[in-house]
Amino acid sequence: METIKFEDLKLDDRILRAVADMGFEETSPIQGKAIPLALEGTDIIGQAQTGTGKTAAFGIPLLEKVDPKLKKLQAVVLCPTRELAIQVAEEIRRLAKYMHGIKVLPVYGGQEIVKQIRSLKDGTQVIIGTPGRVMDHMRRKTIRVEEVHTVVLDEADEMLNMGFLEDMETILGQLPETRQTMMFSATMSPAILEIARKFQKDPETVKVVKKDL
Ligand code: AMP
Repeated sequence: METIKFEDLKLDDRILRAVADMGFEETSPIQGKAIPLALEGTDIIGQAQTGTGKTAAFGIPLLEKVDPKLKKLQAVVLCPTRELAIQVAEEIRRLAKYMHGIKVLPVYGGQEIVKQIRSLKDGTQVIIGTPGRVMDHMRRKTIRVEEVHTVVLDEADEMLNMGFLEDMETILGQLPETRQTMMFSATMSPAILEIARKFQKDPETVKVVKKDL
């Protein structure tokens, strides 16, 4: 298979520098397929497991769209567990290393809510959270979604296994209709395709076989 370099993808220079610092040379298969589509604004269904580089596959296009000067929430990533939320937030922070003014915050259950509310008020543009806690903040209006342009469902099949379907639907139903929706899942089930049908617009499917980086 032909290899695609990050330099070939017309990315922001600051992201290219961060990617080089992280030691990435070529894109992984999911990145090579998903990033160009996502940069065009296309909704994506990505069938990819952990270890394929899926975090950067959605993290890079997401950061390309975040305006550092706008101190409002612009992107939401939903994850099944607190561990994954922390891990994804760390990777997105590394990618955003040279993009000054971008704040990335993991938001999960079990963490002191008052502390989270204080951090959220601080002009956070990107949150990575578990569905229950994100919904809780939306209800309290400590998360406002008017400016959200991108939403990612990471490990969507795991979120369904953990009983988050209703929370996911509630959150997706309240986000601006003009947003871009990217969904990643290791497996494709009828329930996953139903979420795509309800909440995505003409999604493109990208698939990769598991190959650890
Ligand atoms: P993920 O599937 O997103 O959990 O990524 C698995 C691991 O691969 C993480 O440690 C990433 O930092 C790393 N990684 C992601 N993309 C690349 C790449 N293009 N080249 C090398 N390593 C990568």
